[in-house]
Amino acid sequence: MNTPENISAEKPSIGSKVGFVSLGCPKALVDSERILTKLRSEGYEIAAEYAGSDVVIVNTCGFIDSAKQESFSAIKEAMNENGKVIVTGCLGVDEGAVREVAPDVLAVTGPQQYEQVVSEVHKAAPQPHEPYVHLVPPAGLKLTPRHYSYVKISEGCNHRCKFCIIPSLRGDLVSRPIRAVLREAEKLVEAGTSELMIISQDTSAYGLDLKHQREKWKDREIRAHMTDLADALGDLDVWVRLHYVYPYPHVDDVIPLMAEGKILPYLDIPFQHASPRVLRAMRRPANDAKVLERIKKWRTICPEIIIRSTFIVGFPGETEADFDYLLGWLEEAQLDRVGCFKYEAVDGAVANELPDPVPEDIKQDRWNRFMAVSQKISADKLKKRVGMEMAVLIDSVDDSQNGEGGATGRTYADAPEIDGQVHLSGAEGLSEGDMVMAHIDASDEYDLFATVIHDEDDEWDW
Ligand code: SF4
Repeated sequence: MNTPENISAEKPSIGSKVGFVSLGCPKALVDSERILTKLRSEGYEIAAEYAGSDVVIVNTCGFIDSAKQESFSAIKEAMNENGKVIVTGCLGVDEGAVREVAPDVLAVTGPQQYEQVVSEVHKAAPQPHEPYVHLVPPAGLKLTPRHYSYVKISEGCNHRCKFCIIPSLRGDLVSRPIRAVLREAEKLVEAGTSELMIISQDTSAYGLDLKHQREKWKDREIRAHMTDLADALGDLDVWVRLHYVYPYPHVDDVIPLMAEGKILPYLDIPFQHASPRVLRAMRRPANDAKVLERIKKWRTICPEIIIRSTFIVGFPGETEADFDYLLGWLEEAQLDRVGCFKYEAVDGAVANELPDPVPEDIKQDRWNRFMAVSQKISADKLKKRVGMEMAVLIDSVDDSQNGEGGATGRTYADAPEIDGQVHLSGAEGLSEGDMVMAHIDASDEYDLFATVIHDEDDEWDW
């Protein structure tokens, strides 16, 4: 959860105060950044305390029941501490449910309704006479640290996976024009970002709705297409990480860009399962039986490639044979970073009507077995890093956790907040956002332990 305490913003000298809570996925975080950017451009102050705020915005997540509960708690807390609350985000599509727990919220709006949120803020808290446009950082306000940023390239999704309600919350795919995405990325880099995380519901589908329309960019024409986007982002000379990539055939075209060092050799592919039967039951896109062969081919072209994924165990109808298939597949695929969820029914999802629910104790048992296999793969892979020298981007300088001169960072192999970390020693004098070379001294299941050997002037080398 991002609270007002970790919103990086300069304070204007006057202005109404807006408290802000942002819950949910990186896509919700980008929505929050847009709302905050607009409010700050109008001179509002982002308050550190609900109690001192003129109004509080809660950007909610409604994806699974536990996320909904967290959102309801945040709304109730904001109502108790402040009383003037605007609810937005995914939970906002069900105004009745929000009003059941907090009947007196000022307004309830759904995801991407930036203008409506801002206009509700105007009603609740007087707008300052003079806009403080000059106080807004060129890249807009960020809820992430300055050195890494999420760039959302599209909204919505054309697929209809049975466990997912995103299409009903956010609609079909709507891609942003490629020039707008690249301009935003450039501004972020100018403002100090060293790492761009490309996000959407389906990054491989980028530009499909625009018929991959061509636009002029610098001295060339580029298409609204994942490959062209990756190539152009690669010219910005920062880390570029692709998330939520479905393994359509054209994904093969970005692997050479990774091998050349234009973008990070890192692919986040939400496979969710491996058994063809379960994938069909889930109605997953890009359900390609040859994906193992393709992973092998990618590794031949780009041996450094890191593949991260998420999986669901205990989907209705998943048999022991399906689960064994998944474990065998995982052993063979040797994925680097893996997350696993036990299937949870989501209000409104088609999967709720499927027969043969998997009992909770079996889900838990499969989750344990899945995690044991993925943990061993991760530990074995990290052990091979020991003795290497790798570039590390420092996320925080923290003596209390890592001892004097301690810091925490990441190599190209790890995305912030979802993957592992590098615990550094010898980081005296370094700051958040510095890129250093480090000697990898040790490893465990998920993390590396390393000593700084160079400073940020060194060439990056993954
Ligand atoms: S691809 Fe499937 S899981 Fe992902 S957003 Fe679309 S419908 Fe949901």
